[in-house]
Amino acid sequence: MNRGFLALLAVSVAIQPAVLWAKPNKARLELEAQLRAHITELSSDAYDGREPGTDGEAMTLRYLGKQWFDIGLVSGTNDPANPWFAPVTIIAREPDTERAVFTRRGKRVFVPNNAVLVVTSGKRGLVENAPVLFVGKGDHIPPRAELAGRVALLLDGGSEGSERQNALLLAGASGVITVLDGDRSLEDVTAHRSRKGYALISENPGGDIEAFITPSALNGALMGTGLDLTKLKAQAEKAGFAPRTLDLAVSLEATSRETRIKTHNVIGKLPGKRPELGAVLILAHWDHFGRCAAPPAEDLICNGAVDNASGVAVLTEVARRLAKGPQPDRDIYFLATTGEEIGFMGAEAFAEDPPLPLGQIVAAFNIDTVALAPAGRPFAVVGQGMTPLDPQIAAYAKSAKRKLDDDQEANAYVRRQDGWALMRHDVPAVMISSSWSDISLVERFMESDYHRPGDQLSRGIELGGAADDVEFLTGLVRWFGDAKRVPFAAK
Ligand SMILES: [Zn+2]
Repeated sequence: MNRGFLALLAVSVAIQPAVLWAKPNKARLELEAQLRAHITELSSDAYDGREPGTDGEAMTLRYLGKQWFDIGLVSGTNDPANPWFAPVTIIAREPDTERAVFTRRGKRVFVPNNAVLVVTSGKRGLVENAPVLFVGKGDHIPPRAELAGRVALLLDGGSEGSERQNALLLAGASGVITVLDGDRSLEDVTAHRSRKGYALISENPGGDIEAFITPSALNGALMGTGLDLTKLKAQAEKAGFAPRTLDLAVSLEATSRETRIKTHNVIGKLPGKRPELGAVLILAHWDHFGRCAAPPAEDLICNGAVDNASGVAVLTEVARRLAKGPQPDRDIYFLATTGEEIGFMGAEAFAEDPPLPLGQIVAAFNIDTVALAPAGRPFAVVGQGMTPLDPQIAAYAKSAKRKLDDDQEANAYVRRQDGWALMRHDVPAVMISSSWSDISLVERFMESDYHRPGDQLSRGIELGGAADDVEFLTGLVRWFGDAKRVPFAAK
């Protein structure tokens, strides 16, 4: 007998004394076995790490679609042309070609090729022969009229540098060149920027131009102007510094290679009696990294057992229990998202093209990386204090005799999960799990098997907390699905 069993016993006594001695322990064992079966299947090598757009995706969709159908859910896409699986198209971009040419009064100024990096966030970015405007550290962004048609030359502000770079582009600069006069080297920036970037096809990233130049190359380009980097920095330090045009023009060009990834969110629904009173959304990401290691490593597959086969398993078992219970007032939507690992792509796509008006969603509960804690731990609310959901969550926890963890340590991770993408669209979203109440457990996982081939079933998996999560979330979703308990606050 374990503490989870005792807690369950307490609840059973309170609501259904008749079934007290029937089989609480058996139900609990059955639940853990169900979770284990899903995780075993989804994290097996056959799924090849569940990478969007691969056969591993096709297998994942087939598995979840069948499970959810058998449980008794209906399609939640609300799109007869695409039942169950809502298409999401992701564009992956990698830097391809680049060119930087500096001129003074029509004459080319020599700058070595390997001293400049030019990148674009779009397919192609191009600036021809634009005057260079020195903006110092960029702490004061010049007006649009001054930036338009010009390339801003920015001193490196370290971590704030990329924010200032973006601010200058937003304010109308044709491009931004950052002088790497701080801690970052051109190699650092190149390594960082050569990684793939991902965007939804619906986003138009345009053709921004960002460039980086070494201090010595900039000094070379300034030769004959009477200026050098030391003098420019001194000017930028002076009170009342104003941006100034340099006697220098530049042409910058960068292109990216694009690949399209055709992938899907899985959306199921348990229809409520009064859907006009809103809906409850519960979600977990199905995707992972596919093959994430390179030879000579023997195990190349990132199986993602904890991250996030466990979350999808909990989602599915919550669905099973809700489908067996009384019909809720509200519609309950079940969402397995794609592309979480590459920037919440599926959650963002859901929010941009939702199957129901987002304002109808009374509450959203995300589940990510949950098979860490043993049974009997309190439940952390990632996003506590950030949504209007807290009082109702506390009321439910109290009625279910479950303890919430209120230290808010897990809020440090609120921007690292799908719920964040929904919050950016004003959907009240939190992530509730007992695995997140002891942050040292999460951190230990992050330092070891997280996002590595070691996140697989053979590491041994703790399902006590995940089973607690199923029980908690089942009751919580039922609570929020009850229109008398949680009235609809129309937005
Ligand atoms: Zn992850």
